Amino acid sequence: MATIFSKIIEREIPSYKIAEDDRHYAFLDINPAAKGHTLCIPKKEIDYLFDMDADDLAELTRFSQKVAHAIDKTLQPIRTGVIVEGMLVPHAHIHLIPIFKESQDFSLGKKVELGDTEMLNLARRISKNVEL
Ligand code: 5GP
Repeated sequence: MATIFSKIIEREIPSYKIAEDDRHYAFLDINPAAKGHTLCIPKKEIDYLFDMDADDLAELTRFSQKVAHAIDKTLQPIRTGVIVEGMLVPHAHIHLIPIFKESQDFSLGKKVELGDTEMLNLARRISKNVEL
């Protein structure tokens, strides 16, 4: 059965899209740990990130780097952090989480409340700065 992320790639489920190329997709996490929290995924379904073919993993990392640069340019955090966990959705993904202050208290599952308008606005602004 297709994962929820494959359904997002196929537009069966809506998402706040940040970027896409032929092998990857990036979109805002619906439970953001911080403003601009983005997920980068391979289009090819695989559960565990480190089961990926090494070249595919390198490509996903390169794609994530470009998305992180767009987040940095748009939101000007101190830096953008990376988390890989994958305990909820069995489709490899890299969390990109902007860090706006050194004492920022964030973790996956601890959501900041952002409305639909703000999510749309964030996706529009970040996506404009993605250079693939
Ligand atoms: P993990 O598998 O790394 O623990 O977390 C999966 C992440 O996917 C969570 O942060 C969760 O909020 C996010 N997520 C789950 N379902 C959806 C969805 O339908 N849309 C979006 N944008 N994010 C989702």
